[in-house]
Amino acid sequence: MSAAIRFHGELAGLIGPAARAKGLAYPVDRRASIKDVVEALGVPHSEVYAIEVNGRAVDFGYLLEDGAQVDVHPAKPPVDVTKPTLLRPESLPAVCFVVDVNVGRLGNLLRILGLDAAFDNAWDDETIADIAVTEGRIVLSRDRDLLKRAKVVHGRLVRAEHPEEQLREVLQLFGIQGPFAHFSRCLRCNTPLVPVDKQAILHRLLPKTIKYYDDFSMCPSCGRIYWAGSHYEKVSERLRGLGLGPEGSMTDEERS
Ligand SMILES: [Zn+2]
Repeated sequence: MSAAIRFHGELAGLIGPAARAKGLAYPVDRRASIKDVVEALGVPHSEVYAIEVNGRAVDFGYLLEDGAQVDVHPAKPPVDVTKPTLLRPESLPAVCFVVDVNVGRLGNLLRILGLDAAFDNAWDDETIADIAVTEGRIVLSRDRDLLKRAKVVHGRLVRAEHPEEQLREVLQLFGIQGPFAHFSRCLRCNTPLVPVDKQAILHRLLPKTIKYYDDFSMCPSCGRIYWAGSHYEKVSERLRGLGLGPEGSMTDEERS
């Protein structure tokens, strides 16, 4: 009693030769859903976008049968999480993320682009999974066990090592294109910023900042103040290198 499970495309790279071989002659000795089987072989369900049994599309609840030829397919970017699919009838109202601490710098870059990316170093796996459900967010992580949690519906096992490449990976997968609202979100707490009158915050600014800058925004949640200073320019330059930067530049010299 066995079934053959084949992982296609980028999914094949997620498992080693031993798991691949086991999948090709997978024992059917108990009632197991294809979701459990796929995860037992090492692939989180978040990475699976289509499953066919003998050429027929099935959902995650399909119970593995003797002799079944199962093809497991990866995402075909761009993935539209706002549209229900056979594997994910629970679509999201919008694209937003909850980011695991192991890809925290990716979370920061998403926020810099103005995208909604919730994260907190204090959150454990259970908290992240709960937030994903209650707030309708896509989980971004490099931790397979987190993405295997039953609660997680939408997610990405981030493959790239470097934050900039991770950003590109996520934007491409979910089909997120500009224009972006750069620097429109609090980097500390993810809240959208609001403009604030310079006169109202003078007491919180250094003399040099008062001299060179006139436009400020503030986080209505944590109170942090933002302006287009040297850090802004450095980050903008990095983003421009990725083709994701804000247009033009704003330097101290031009504004003095
Ligand atoms: Zn804030």
